[in-house]
Amino acid sequence: MAALSGNAQTGAAVKADAYGLGALEVVPRLWQAGCRDFFVAHWGEAEALADLIPTSSIAVLNGITEQDVAAAMELGAAPVLNTPHQIALWKAANGGRCHVMLDSGINRLGIGPEQLSSRLIEGLNIDILLTHLASADEDVPQNAKQLARFVAMSSDISAKRRSMANSAGIALGSDYHFDLTRPGLALYGGAAHSHLRSSISQVVQPQARILQIRDVAAGEGVGYNATYTAQKETTVATLAIGYADGYFRGFSNSGSVRIDGVECPVLGRVSMDLITVDISAVPSPAEGDWCDINFELGNASRSSGVSQYELLTGLSRRAERLWL
Ligand SMILES: *Cc1c(COP(=O)(O)O)cnc(C)c1O
Repeated sequence: MAALSGNAQTGAAVKADAYGLGALEVVPRLWQAGCRDFFVAHWGEAEALADLIPTSSIAVLNGITEQDVAAAMELGAAPVLNTPHQIALWKAANGGRCHVMLDSGINRLGIGPEQLSSRLIEGLNIDILLTHLASADEDVPQNAKQLARFVAMSSDISAKRRSMANSAGIALGSDYHFDLTRPGLALYGGAAHSHLRSSISQVVQPQARILQIRDVAAGEGVGYNATYTAQKETTVATLAIGYADGYFRGFSNSGSVRIDGVECPVLGRVSMDLITVDISAVPSPAEGDWCDINFELGNASRSSGVSQYELLTGLSRRAERLWL
C-alpha cells in the first residue's frame, strides 16, 4: 500500500480490532513496517493501543462528546472532529492538536460545505484534514466530484496534511493520494478495487479439523433441513467450524475447502460449530486432518453474499489466531 501511495505517507485503519484480525498483533507489525498514523473509531480502541505505540499516532474517527473530552486529552490521541459541536467542545477545552473531517459528498460524517466557514475552523491546530470517498470501489463520476469538492473546501484551511484515500481510493491514482492515505481492507487481504487485485495477497487463512467421516447413501439429506440431497453415494467429512466462528450461513451449499489439494464443496447448511463437505475425491482423508477453508476474500464474498469487510470483522474470538 505504501508503494502504491506514491509520495504520500501511508496510514492504517485498525478500527474494529484491526478488522477482526486482532489490533494488538496487527498494530506493532504495521509500526515496524513504518506506519505512523493509526485510525480507530472509538476511544476504547485507542486506549487499548496506548501501551504499544505513541498515542499521538492514533486518530479517533468518531470524534468527541462532552463526556470524553477530558479523557481524550489525557490519553493524547487526537480526535477527528466531525461536527461544529465537536469543534466547539475541542476549542472550549483548549484541546490542542486535532484532525478535522470534511464531508465532500458521502453525507455521513464530517463538516458539510454548508457548515464550513473560516470562523468555524479559526483557532484549531489541525494536523490532518480528512475526507472520505463514498464509491472508491467503483469507477463513477462521484469520485471526481468528491475530489473537486475536497480541494475547494480545503484550500483555505491551514492544516499540516490532507488525506482522502481508503484502500480503493489509492487505486484511483495520485490525484487522490494527497499527503496521507488510509488503507484498511487491503492491509488484510481485501481487494476493493479491481486495479488492486494483482497487488494483494490473501492474509487470513481459516483452518478447521475433520471430526468425522461417513459415507452417505444416494437420496440421503445432509445437515439441518436436508438442504442437500446426495445424488450418489458420497463421502462426507464434518469439520469443526461454523457460523459462530464467522463462517457464515451464506456459505451453505456454496463454500468450499481444500484437503490435500482437492477442492471439497460445502454440502448443506452451515451449522453453529460444524460444516459438512464432500470429500469423495480426497485419496486418504482421516479424522483429525486440518483443512484449509477457501477464504480468498473476493471469491468468498461472491459465494457467501457477505461483503469482504464483514467476512473479516465477523471472525469470532473463538478462532485461535496464529501468526506465521
Ligand atoms: C474504515 C475507514 C478507512 C479504511 O477503509 P478501507 O475501505 O477499509 O480501506 C479509511 N478512512 C475512514 C474514514 C474509514 O472509516
